[in-house]
Amino acid sequence: MNWWMCSECDYVLQAELPPEKCPSCHAECIFSDVTCYIPECGGVGRLDMKMVAEKAKADKNKIN
Ligand SMILES: [Zn+2]
Repeated sequence: MNWWMCSECDYVLQAELPPEKCPSCHAECIFSDVTCYIPECGGVGRLDMKMVAEKAKADKNKIN
């Protein structure tokens, strides 16, 4: 299972593959893989909180 984060609303969900539509904002958005692959962020298969924070920050700096 991987962790996915919505590029529109920062919603995070756990699934094998990212959904076509975000269950939170209902947009056909891009899902970023925020799964941890190293022990430093909690172990393989866990949610990488550092990546989530970075993505959330990057999304806020994005000019729409
Ligand atoms: Zn969303």
